[in-house]
Formats: sequence, structure tokens, C-alpha cells
Amino acid sequence: MALEFAQRVHRIPVYPLASGYDLGDEVALLASNESAFAPVPEVFEAVEKAVLRAHRYPDPAYAPLRRALSDRYGVAPERIALGNGSCDILLAAAEALLEPGAEVVYAWPAFSIYPHLAASSGARAIEVPLDADDRHDLDAIAREITVATRLVLVCNPNNPTSTSRGLDEIVALLDRCPPHACVILDEAYAEFSLALGDTYASVELLRRWPNLVVLRSFSKVYGLAGLRAGYALCGSPEFRQAVDQVRQPFHLNVAAQAAATEALRHQDAVEQRVTHTLAARLELEQAIAELSLRAAPSDANFLWVHMPDGEEAAERERALVAGLAQRRVLVRAGASLGGPGAVRVTVGTPEENRRFIAALRELL
Ligand SMILES: *Cc1c(COP(=O)(O)O)cnc(C)c1O
Repeated sequence: MALEFAQRVHRIPVYPLASGYDLGDEVALLASNESAFAPVPEVFEAVEKAVLRAHRYPDPAYAPLRRALSDRYGVAPERIALGNGSCDILLAAAEALLEPGAEVVYAWPAFSIYPHLAASSGARAIEVPLDADDRHDLDAIAREITVATRLVLVCNPNNPTSTSRGLDEIVALLDRCPPHACVILDEAYAEFSLALGDTYASVELLRRWPNLVVLRSFSKVYGLAGLRAGYALCGSPEFRQAVDQVRQPFHLNVAAQAAATEALRHQDAVEQRVTHTLAARLELEQAIAELSLRAAPSDANFLWVHMPDGEEAAERERALVAGLAQRRVLVRAGASLGGPGAVRVTVGTPEENRRFIAALRELL
């Protein structure tokens, strides 16, 4: 059989999926930047209650979650887009904003889904290399913005390199962006970031830039990666309307809505998780430095660890990822994320982190 597929299907790269989810509990899953902590018990209770009404469609307005986010961030409900994970909103943004002849600008390496946006829409992708310190080169990004630019993606802190830019630098970029170009600040790791100050600071920028969208996720610090919920706080209602227009009406299931709404009520848990994660990250950073490896300055819940320089960096990376996997510690090879010669490791539980360091010592 030879099915004929649309051209775009041939263009869309295969997303670098993590492996190991079927290996059982003893595997340290440090490959996907998830939370090491399960949701708080109240979230499970809210989900249980919600699924009792699983025979009904979800509330298509997602009113309770929308209201909770609106109250928390002071953004009008009509300027909040919700999604089946924040990736859902990114893909919808591509469908709503991009087409052949249009351009999308982003740093590279950055989040693995970004190349899909141009590939699926036929727009031109302009990938701007990170600077020598694995950070966004915002000046170079600004220089790539033209009349054809419809979308600028800024991943801050950046996945996979963990680095971030301060808000003053983001503001300088926004100042150079014409109003027709939508800027998405992808802040999946905002809660961990010290450079952002607090999780409200970038939201404040929406008052000044109607073309700005602040994208957030429940998959990281909130620990809901498996339920899928993300949101976008938008400078104007038009972005929200457009991304809703291109998607099915029920993009957020009842369990995800209930879980996300409840999770927002437990900011004390969020703060505790951030504190634990940053302390554990510091220990990992010290252990890595003792092994004479260099990690990029992290502002998130993961580290980007460079292999020693030299021609064999890519080979060392492959050997290290394989050696760690044999020891049941899964990390991400930089090569699969656009950055060969490095590995990305998520800060896990204290036990997982100890196992990672022990395995690393053995392998080096
Ligand atoms: C993990 C991540 C997301 C979140 O994706 P979800 O679809 O919400 O799970 C978004 N952006 C970046 C940069 C990420 O690393």
C-alpha cells in the first residue's frame, strides 16, 4: 500500500521522544525535565471528582481554570489561551500565524518542537545560533526580524541549555520588534528562574506590548506533565481567538482542567519544590565541577553539561548517554536536541541525583 501524504508530513521532523518509560520504577528518568515530585494529594482528589463526570464534555470555556489564572496574574480571561500542554498552543500559533512566505525566528538549539512550526506551515525558519555561553543572542535575533516575520520564539530559560536572559534584555528585544510580529516568551521553567525575578514580572510586559504572549506550562514545577495542561497570557485577545479558532473545541480534558485549577491553589508546594530543586541543582553542579566537566549556568530544573572539548566530544556524549542508560539513569543526548557534544540532565530526587553522579564518576 502506498498512501499519499501531504508535503508537510515529509517536512516535519520526528520529535526526539524520550525512551525508558517502560523500564519500570528503578530507572532514574532524568531525560525530560519533569518534576521529581508527584502532584499534591488535593490534586488527585480534584481529578477523581472530575472524572465522575467523564460522560459529559468538558466545559468548553474552561471557566474555573481561566478564572483562577486571571485572578492570579491579573490578565483578563479573554486574553488567556489554554492548551493540551503548552506545545498545543505553540502548534496552534504556527497554524494561526504562519504560512508560505512568512518567517519564524528562534534561537537554536532551543525547544525541540520549534522546528515543527515552520515545517508544518511552510513558513521559513530562521535559526539564530546561541552565543558562546549557550545563551540567546537577542541582538542577533532582533537583526533577523523583517516585514515577513510573523513569529519570534524566545525560550527563557532555554531548553535544552538551561540559560536565561534578564527581563531588561527581553524588553530591549521587544522594543526592536514591529507590532505585526508576535513574540512568544516560552517560560515553561519560569518558576525556577532567578533571572525573571518572579513569575509576575514578565506578565507585566503584556501591558506595554499587545504582540507579546507569555507561554507557561503545568508540566514542569506543577508536576502535571502526564495530564497535559498549558496556558498563554496574551497581550491582546486576538492571539487567543486565533489559536482557539484553529483547534478542536475540547482541547483540555476534564481531569487536566481540574488538576491545573487545584494545583494553582498550592503555591506553598510550588515554592517548596523550587527550593528543593535549586538546592539539589547546586549539589549536582558542584559534583559536575569536581569531575572537571563544565555545565552552562542553569536557571532551571536541569543542567546542560558539556563533554570535554575536542574532536571526540560527540563520541564521548554517545558513550556517556549509553553508559548511564546501562546503569539505569536516563539523560538526553545533546545531539538529539540540536547541541552535540553535551548532555541534558534533569534535577531529580536526591536518590536519583546520587545515582547519576555515582554513574558519572564510574564512566569518566
Ligand atoms: C517542557 C517544555 C514545554 C512544556 O510543554 P507541555 O506541552 O506544556 O508539556 C514548553 N516549552 C519548553 C521550552 C519546554 O521545555
